[in-house]
Amino acid sequence: MAAYDFDLFVIGGGSGGVRAGRVAASMGKRVAVAEEYRFGGTCVIRGCVPKKLFVYASSFPEHFEDAEGYGWQVGESTFDWKTLIANKDKEIARLEGLYQKGLSSNDATMFKSRAELVDQHTICLTATGETVTAEKIVIAVGGRPNPMSNLPGHELCISSNEAFHLEELPKSILIAGGGYIAVEFANIFHGLGVETTLIYRGTEILSKFDEDLRTNLQDAMIAKGINIQFEDVIEKVEKAAGNDLRVTTKNGDVSEYSQVMLALGRIANTESLGLEKVGVETNARGAIVVDEYNKTNIDNIYALGDVTDKVQLTPVAIHEAMCFIETVYKDNPTSPDHELIPTAVFSQPEIGTVGMTEAEAGKAFEELEVYRAQFRPMRHTLSGREEKMMMKLIVNAADRKVVGAHILGPDAGELAQVLGVTLKAGVTKDDFDRTMAVHPSASEELVTMYSPTYRVKNGERV
Ligand code: NDP
Repeated sequence: MAAYDFDLFVIGGGSGGVRAGRVAASMGKRVAVAEEYRFGGTCVIRGCVPKKLFVYASSFPEHFEDAEGYGWQVGESTFDWKTLIANKDKEIARLEGLYQKGLSSNDATMFKSRAELVDQHTICLTATGETVTAEKIVIAVGGRPNPMSNLPGHELCISSNEAFHLEELPKSILIAGGGYIAVEFANIFHGLGVETTLIYRGTEILSKFDEDLRTNLQDAMIAKGINIQFEDVIEKVEKAAGNDLRVTTKNGDVSEYSQVMLALGRIANTESLGLEKVGVETNARGAIVVDEYNKTNIDNIYALGDVTDKVQLTPVAIHEAMCFIETVYKDNPTSPDHELIPTAVFSQPEIGTVGMTEAEAGKAFEELEVYRAQFRPMRHTLSGREEKMMMKLIVNAADRKVVGAHILGPDAGELAQVLGVTLKAGVTKDDFDRTMAVHPSASEELVTMYSPTYRVKNGERV
């Protein structure tokens, strides 16, 4: 008789947890996955997937405008928020079903309950009070938006969670932050016709991205009509007349908005999980500390995805889950590879990027060649849209390896995926030069930038 109820118990039914559970179950392991909200987790239920659907919705007004230059007369258009929400909800429910099916068809047990650790091998399902035991435990409970509890009036604000379920499209919105979520939602709301203001503490949004991406995206957003308040933060939020909110900022601005959204980072969901009972170590930010194989300080307990606060991206959580399977169930110790992660910001225009920023590469290498092209994509010749596309390759002059590739413009995220493969394979600028162009395309610029736009020596442009 087995000593434990399950070989593997996964706490959290998001991208990382479901992948670990599904693959382990497909290998014949006795697996249970507990999820307190909805299977699919943040990415599927209230993150990447619905966000991308919103991005599509919000980009139609520009398509309608662009159509005219191509001879189309688009009639008066109207937008219905409730239709978007209902259709989005239907698609999300479909995906949630697929996540569950992946588990059930591999005979994994699903618990629709919060799960908390009782001891090293015992888990309590809080919905029923039942306890179960497992040989190995994976904690993949993800994170949640930082509620900014010290901000007076934070309870009046929404986060990305609520943005997916607003009853009405607001007339105006103030979004705090300058990261992925703030920037993506500023573009979404603006595209849907909401008067949108971004408030950011720095001088340029997206602080972790290449400078040219930041400047050019920011300029494009401002040109579209998104108001950005730099070097300022919200000091307090209060109820105003009607349903509006009055916001006072540190710089003394007092303005009213229909909604205020906080997008100031995400924190690990580690409270009341029983971690302290079992002695699972967490860091100062509350995230679970793991070794290079995603093992916690407790031998049979692993953690993966956002709860470890390493890289908060869905594909990283999935990759970590696959490494867990290799390490634990295939006797093939495999450390997640966090080098050269391609990523996209679904802003409008879009960012696609992989590798080092110019500033990072300038510190890491003595001399760089920087190749940069800025041009109006062909599509916009007839549409008349002024928006420019930018492509930038950062090359280590010593061995001509491409160490960073940055794109701003249509389908930049799609391009980043392919560029990610090439950088991972150690591509050099000579390989780009040897590659035939696809014509006419925007991406042909990537293989036709023959001379460096400028060089960087010891961190300085020359
Ligand atoms: P980010 O880390 O991207 O951005 C947080 C923003 O909040 C930064 O601009 C930061 O400023 C600012 N900030 C943090 N603390 C404060 C504070 N106390 N006062 C004022 N400003 C503050 O987090 P997000 O919430 O936007 O997104 C969370 C994570 O989710 C991302 O890091 C990303 O990994 C993931 N994500 C990925 C997406 C994608 O792949 N397309 C889409 C959405 C989210 P500063 O820069 O100055 O530090």
